[in-house]
Amino acid sequence: MDQYAQPHIIPFPKKMSFKDNETVNISEFSVKCSEKKFKDMYERPLRLLERQKAKKLFLVNNDRIIEEGYKLNISSEKITVEASSEKGFFYCLQTLLQLKNGDKIPVTDIDDYPSLKMRGIHLNFDNVRNMGYREAHNLILMLAKFKINTILIEYGDRFPYKKHPLVVSSNTLSKAEIRKLISLARENYIEVIPLLQSFGHLDYVLDVHKYQYLNEGEKEGGRQLCPSNLDSLKLFVELAEEIIEIHPDIRYFHIGGDETRYLGYCPVCKERAKSIGKGGLYIEHINKVCRWIKKQGLIPILWDDMLCTFPETVQKLEKGSIIMYWDYWATEDSTPLLLARSYETNRGVVYDRRWQNEWAKEITGLEKENTLKFGRFMNLEKELEPEYKSKFLPYLGDKFPKYIKAFPYLKFYKDSGFEVIGAPLLDHLFADTYDWKWLLSVQRPVRNIFAFTKRCIEEGALGIVGTSWRNYPVEVIYHGIITTAQFSWAGG
Ligand SMILES: [Zn+2]
Repeated sequence: MDQYAQPHIIPFPKKMSFKDNETVNISEFSVKCSEKKFKDMYERPLRLLERQKAKKLFLVNNDRIIEEGYKLNISSEKITVEASSEKGFFYCLQTLLQLKNGDKIPVTDIDDYPSLKMRGIHLNFDNVRNMGYREAHNLILMLAKFKINTILIEYGDRFPYKKHPLVVSSNTLSKAEIRKLISLARENYIEVIPLLQSFGHLDYVLDVHKYQYLNEGEKEGGRQLCPSNLDSLKLFVELAEEIIEIHPDIRYFHIGGDETRYLGYCPVCKERAKSIGKGGLYIEHINKVCRWIKKQGLIPILWDDMLCTFPETVQKLEKGSIIMYWDYWATEDSTPLLLARSYETNRGVVYDRRWQNEWAKEITGLEKENTLKFGRFMNLEKELEPEYKSKFLPYLGDKFPKYIKAFPYLKFYKDSGFEVIGAPLLDHLFADTYDWKWLLSVQRPVRNIFAFTKRCIEEGALGIVGTSWRNYPVEVIYHGIITTAQFSWAGG
């Protein structure tokens, strides 16, 4: 007897019902649709190329269905797919391919649509040196299968710059490879967002002798462009122009902008910082970059951490920019961990000192390990600066200082008039010690992605992009990708 085990679809459809063990044979169907492109989309993957069958798979346009949503009804006599866009038909096909067991497909009724508009993955060629063209190609096909619709591509020194060949690494991708990846993404309804750092994290550029005069600060630590030197913007523009040229269809451009730790280092910047502050140096340069991006007809995206460090800069940020907010630590809705950034003390994640003694027994497992491993304890009520509290206290939830409402800056950025994208962690950022528990355990990234996605949905964020930062075999992020796909599509 041919038993049909109940199928599991990832991401889970919003509504799905099955009839007990009832199946149809897909080979008895042929595709019926007046629009050739949709017909082609279905025939080959489902192997329905022999045209004249008694039973029909109907592809029906239904404008009442939201852009990426679809309805799928399978009965013994007919299959009906309804959608209002190519993407909707494509995602229904992905569901059908997961339902298909040999020739059999279960009798089912599905009504499905995503919870977040942008469901993305960071393709980091810069840090993940293991990832070449072939790995990226496979990854894109995998993303499509799980209804991921965005990739954030960070090339670093692996983009074949023509005007600045000295910054190009020996294991660069070729232009032909990049074009093939872009067109594969397009065929799979995946939007590409290129990322080029415009301020810090430019070691591969600023280590080259020719550009060292633009380096702000000292030799050790991350290199950074001097925002007071006019050549800095010029260099960014020349690099960005080559990236934009090879990506003709893009809407967004990510300008990085994180961890600029050397603000006000050179004599010129130091002097200017006296009047406009370090935050002023930061936002002035970032806004020049954003305005140039906007002039190219693109929407700038930037990392949030420096805006959060200098909250007064958020109001000054070029309107229409999108803030990509990263937090790799929170794993629950309500958490002891607070990401309270401070430039002068290089402060990141903190928690109230009472977790060390008075409340110690109240946290266990992952939350305890996370808090103690990554946080620094302090007296949150007394030691957080008045400026921090005046801006952010309303966003930290009513259990502060014991528990913090996770990802509090989502609402702060939204209230400041910006679209936000959440950026959780796909891999295991702090696994440098080869500690298998942090490298191979999936619990922390899964909880971080889950908690972040949930809050992004609650606060009406544009979406999430799962990020990866470590040079492990790229398969290490597979579980994080599936988790991102699951929660960003299906919700909680
Ligand atoms: Zn400078």
